[in-house]
Amino acid sequence: MQTLHTIPDFRRAHAALAGSLGLVPTMGYLHEGHLTLVRRAKEENDHVAVSIFVNPTQFGPAEDLAAYPRDLDRDLALLRKAGVDLVFNPSPAEMYPPGQESMIDTGSVSQPLEGQRRPGHFRGVATVVAKLFNIAQAQRAYFGAKDAQQVRVIQRMARDLDVPTAIIVVPTVREPDGLAMSSRNVYLTPPERIAARCLSRGLRLAEAGYAGGERSADALREVVRQTIAAEPLVTVDYISLADSETLAELEGPLTRAALLSLAVRIGKARLIDNVTLGE
Ligand code: AMP
Repeated sequence: MQTLHTIPDFRRAHAALAGSLGLVPTMGYLHEGHLTLVRRAKEENDHVAVSIFVNPTQFGPAEDLAAYPRDLDRDLALLRKAGVDLVFNPSPAEMYPPGQESMIDTGSVSQPLEGQRRPGHFRGVATVVAKLFNIAQAQRAYFGAKDAQQVRVIQRMARDLDVPTAIIVVPTVREPDGLAMSSRNVYLTPPERIAARCLSRGLRLAEAGYAGGERSADALREVVRQTIAAEPLVTVDYISLADSETLAELEGPLTRAALLSLAVRIGKARLIDNVTLGE
């Protein structure tokens, strides 16, 4: 496994490899969710590259950029064990040298939900992912369904800009009690970690309601709201039931695939989760 810190070094190392490349973009502090993406990339490509870059342009001024958990040595050990070929770990200055001004705006899909609460977040995401795509020149790139709106933003960017890399979406990997794995789960104290079960519990209850025939958008959102409301440590940021493709909020009876998603605050952590209904 080679770890490269500059764009020319990465390109040289890639050029020396024959065959297809799968790219897994991450911000590090790896967990089993990331490693599931890596395993899938290994199955489908001759070689795998993982990027580890805590991307400053996707953090707002009041967000956790400085505090974001980092442990490069541990990440590299996990990736070596997983059989990764290339790790790309650039500095912020390598990715954003002075004078870099171009940013990618993906339009309507980046506006609601996370985009509304985190202004500029998806411009940062779309820009860094486009840069990583251009640097890596991979045949396939792997993203987690846990970040549902991010997936749609990247798909829109790739489609609109004729990106040749295929985008592969991998289902959310969860802890045994249902909590979606996230690098930010480390912020939770033990009681908060228990309270955090209400995210996946609420989504599961709504899924069960949907399976039982419930189609009212309000009723399905309400199932999640009540489940979260039972946990005093948890504050709702939003609960959304939106068109799965456009992310426009739905009212009335559901007639096609819908994304049920939520964001909450628990202590220092802001956590998101989602399920798709009617896929
Ligand atoms: P991050 O390091 O949080 O930016 O995540 C890097 C990639 O891993 C993104 O495509 C995430 O959607 C994906 N990912 C993070 N957590 C999970 C999870 N629990 N299950 C599946 N994919 C995940």
